[in-house]
Amino acid sequence: MHHFDPSTEIQDYLVFGEYGGVNPSITDSSTYTFLNPEKMKEMFDHEIEGCFLYSRHWNPTNKYLSDALAKLEDSEAAIVTASGMSAISCAILQICNTGDEIISSRTIYGGTYALFKNFLPRLGIKVNFVNEQDLGAIENAINSNTKIIYCEAVSNPLLEIADIPEISKTANAHNLKLIVDNTFSPISITPLQLGAHIVIHSLTKYINGTSDCTAGCVCSTKEFISELTHINSGASMLLGPALDSYRAASILKNLHTLHIRVKKHSENAMYVATELEKLGCKVFYPGLDSHSGKPLMTELMNEGFGYGGMLALDAGDEKTADTLMERLQANKVGYLAVSLGYFKTLFSSPGHSTSSEIPKEEQEKMGLSEGLVRMSIGLDNNIEKTFERIKLSLEEVGMLVF
Ligand SMILES: *Cc1c(COP(=O)(O)O)cnc(C)c1O
Repeated sequence: MHHFDPSTEIQDYLVFGEYGGVNPSITDSSTYTFLNPEKMKEMFDHEIEGCFLYSRHWNPTNKYLSDALAKLEDSEAAIVTASGMSAISCAILQICNTGDEIISSRTIYGGTYALFKNFLPRLGIKVNFVNEQDLGAIENAINSNTKIIYCEAVSNPLLEIADIPEISKTANAHNLKLIVDNTFSPISITPLQLGAHIVIHSLTKYINGTSDCTAGCVCSTKEFISELTHINSGASMLLGPALDSYRAASILKNLHTLHIRVKKHSENAMYVATELEKLGCKVFYPGLDSHSGKPLMTELMNEGFGYGGMLALDAGDEKTADTLMERLQANKVGYLAVSLGYFKTLFSSPGHSTSSEIPKEEQEKMGLSEGLVRMSIGLDNNIEKTFERIKLSLEEVGMLVF
C-alpha cells in the first residue's frame, strides 16, 4: 500500500466566508474592479497573487475549489473547468502543436477516445493507441514527435490498473509528459506521487457525487497551471471552459464528504462483486482475487478507501445485457444511465466505441464482451436488499440457470 491520506489534507483545508461563514462566499461577478489603471496594466503583464481580473481567467470561488483539489492530488496547483472533457482538451492543447504525437491507452473513456481519434487529427496531432498493460508496446510507439503518454489510473470498462510508476520511468527517460485521468479512483490513487506529471478529473463523477452538473480539473505544477491560465497563451483562458462559481461552491462542499462516499462505494461494490462471483457470474472488480490488476492496485492505492465503486458484469451477449439493464431498472436497483459516482447505482453497456480499435480476437482475450454491463455501485445502506434485486433481475433474464 502507498501511504498517503488525501482526506487528511482536505480536512485541514479551511476557508472562511466574507462574514466568517463556514463556507466561503460565492463570487457573483464576472469582472473585478481595480483601484487605478496602473494596477490593471500590471495584472495584464503578470498575475498578481490574490488579485482577480475576469472570471474566465480566475474567480475566487473557483480558486477555493482548485486549491482543495490540489490538496486532494498533492499537486502544487490546479485549475477547475466546466467539464472533464475541457480539462483534457486544454491540457493536451497546451502541450501539443501540429505534428506532435500522443501515445494513449486504448481503453479510455469514450469521449476522450473520440477526441483523440476523430478530432485531434484535424489539428495535425496524431494519437497512437496501445495496450497500456504492455510497457514494451508503449516504448515501441515512442518517436521524436511524441509529447505525451496518456492513460487512466483505473481503465474503462475492465478496470485494469495502470502501472503508473513504470510508465512514468518510460515517460521521464524520453522527456514526455505522463497525463493520468484519475476520475475512477479519486482519493484511492494519487498519481502524482507515483510519477505522473499531470492529473485530470471529471468532477462530474465521484468528486461531486450528485450527478447535478459537469465539471473538471487539471492538477499539476504551478508552472503548468500558470501556462494553462496565461492571459495571452493559456488554453483554459483562451478556449474558455470556465466553471460557474455557484457550481464550484457546491462541488467544494461535496468534496468534503468524498472520503466517506468512496469508502461506502467500495464496500458496496466489493459486496456485490463477491456475491455475483459466488453465483457463477463473470465479473470484473479490482478487489477480487480473480482480477489480474488486484496486486498492482493493492500496491499503488492509499490505505483505507477500498478498490472503488465500479464493476463490470459480463451478461454474455448484447441482447441479454440489454434486457438485464431493463430489469435492473424496473426492479429499482438504480438507473440505466451513463456516468458514475452517483449515490444511486448506475448501469450502462460500454458500447462499441472505445473497443473498436482493438482487434476482435484480442477483445475476446481481454474479456471485452458485447454483453458487458458496467455498474457504478451506489451508496445504499441496505446493499443486501439491492443485491437480492440484482439476483432477481439475473433470474428474469435467465442468467442463473445452471
Ligand atoms: C466522464 C469522464 C470524462 C469526461 O468528463 P465530463 O465531465 O463528462 O466532460 C473523462 N474521463 C473519464 C474517465 C470519465 O469517466
